[in-house]
Amino acid sequence: MNITGSIKEVRAQVKEWRRQGLTVGLVPTMGYLHEGHKSLIDRAVMENDRVVVSDFVNPIQFGVNEDLSTYPRDIEADKRLCEAAGADLIFHPTPDEMYAADFFTFVETQKVSEGLCGKSRPTHFRGVCTVVSKLFHIVMPDRAYFGEKDAQQLAVVRRMVRDLNMDIEIVGCPIIREADGLAKSSRNTYLNKEERKAALVLSRAIFHGREMVENGEQNAETVLSAMRDIIESEPLARIDYVEMVDADSIEPVTKVHGRVLAAMAVFIGKTRLIDNFIVENC
Ligand code: AMP
Repeated sequence: MNITGSIKEVRAQVKEWRRQGLTVGLVPTMGYLHEGHKSLIDRAVMENDRVVVSDFVNPIQFGVNEDLSTYPRDIEADKRLCEAAGADLIFHPTPDEMYAADFFTFVETQKVSEGLCGKSRPTHFRGVCTVVSKLFHIVMPDRAYFGEKDAQQLAVVRRMVRDLNMDIEIVGCPIIREADGLAKSSRNTYLNKEERKAALVLSRAIFHGREMVENGEQNAETVLSAMRDIIESEPLARIDYVEMVDADSIEPVTKVHGRVLAAMAVFIGKTRLIDNFIVENC
């Protein structure tokens, strides 16, 4: 497995693979890799001849008062995980390699990026779409892998790819959780012992909401209010949002019908965590 920070080197490597007729999968990440990222890499390794993992904390998807400077990084551990998972190349650029000092071009979706996380992080998805577009242009993969953990991000990327006719298959992969239910996240490392315990309200609310829907509850507000009650029972938790939306358009729904996403963002102390469930054919 190779690692490079150079766009030119990635291009040369991918060009060589293409010359050999090999298919290429891309797994975009911000590093500090865990089992959730590994599940994406595993799937990419299964479905492609060669796999590129990008490992880049993308500054332009962080708001001014967010955690860019403290975001956890451990490239040596990331290398070990990628190597063990069978990835072929890590792309680990510096911010300067990705963004020229006079960089002024952005990719922005509308509507699908405005609700949920887009409300509290108004420039976030513009940063995501811009970096994902750049990665797509650099790597030119056949397939790219994203987690359902970031369900709105997945919907936004799918919409961008459709609207801009990018010839890349977007593959969504299920949420990987800790044994006690907490969705795996690089940001879980911010939690102290007490907060780690409190953070279980997110998955408890998710499992409860999903069970209500599976048992036939169709009123979105009834489900959401039961989920909010669970979160509000935890003194360290503060709700950013708990909402139910159409999983593709991210428009709010009042009835649980079709393909529906129940999504939440909750502060546990200073750490903002997200979780969700998707129900289909209900
Ligand atoms: P991040 O490094 O947090 O930007 O995540 C990179 C990719 O890994 C995104 O597509 C995430 O949705 C995905 N991912 C992160 N955590 C998980 C998880 N617990 N389960 C599945 N996918 C995940």
